Amino acid sequence: MSIAENLKRLKGRIENKCRECKRDPHEIKLVAVSKNFGLPEIEEAIRCGIKDFGENRAQELLAKFEALGERVIWHFIGTLQKNKVKYAVRTAEYIHSVISKDLAEEIDKQAAKRGIVQKVLIQIKTSYEETKTGAAGKEEIKELFSYCTDAENLELVGLMTMAPFTDDENMIRKSFSDLRILQDELDPQKNILKELSMGMTSDFEIAIEEGATMLRIGFAIFGERNYK
Ligand SMILES: *Cc1c(COP(=O)(O)O)cnc(C)c1O
Repeated sequence: MSIAENLKRLKGRIENKCRECKRDPHEIKLVAVSKNFGLPEIEEAIRCGIKDFGENRAQELLAKFEALGERVIWHFIGTLQKNKVKYAVRTAEYIHSVISKDLAEEIDKQAAKRGIVQKVLIQIKTSYEETKTGAAGKEEIKELFSYCTDAENLELVGLMTMAPFTDDENMIRKSFSDLRILQDELDPQKNILKELSMGMTSDFEIAIEEGATMLRIGFAIFGERNYK
């Protein structure tokens, strides 16, 4: 199947799910996760009307940014080491994966250096899987929330999570609903935390039901990733 056909099918599924749970599809941003895919695939998705793309490695993001520039809104969605922050700041419109105060400080510092305000999301560990990263623990999360809210060169816009890798729909749903509950606790008015970045190819329909505003989808658009 081509990227165009994949996208048509995917958009149909998103619209159906929105209709089912009475949500407006316009309040959900589709982020096409293009990691491990090249410029031709991204160009094709752009021709199909996609503007938002997600990458999980800072240098790959930078290379693609330099090739495609302003035609794309980039989202950084991967683990970010402190020494790679300089590649992601400003290159990415959104950094979804702020997991610690240390990292937030470095992003703030690099944003200040460039004279910009960097949009960020706090990544929360909502599953008990060891392999998943993210902020965990009420105090740590609150502290990170206040830091990001106050930092001069950060604009906190939401929360992000990855559901556990399982067939158990209840566990996946709990992961997403936990994120929404946390949003309500931290920012009941939703003045700051407007975005919930959750839902991938295997679980985006559950994420829509639980309030996702950003879906990060790779496989359903681009097909099998070819890791080299
Ligand atoms: C790869 C990745 C995705 C997309 O996953 P698919 O299964 O290809 O849809 C979403 N979020 C993160 C953080 C990822 O690393």
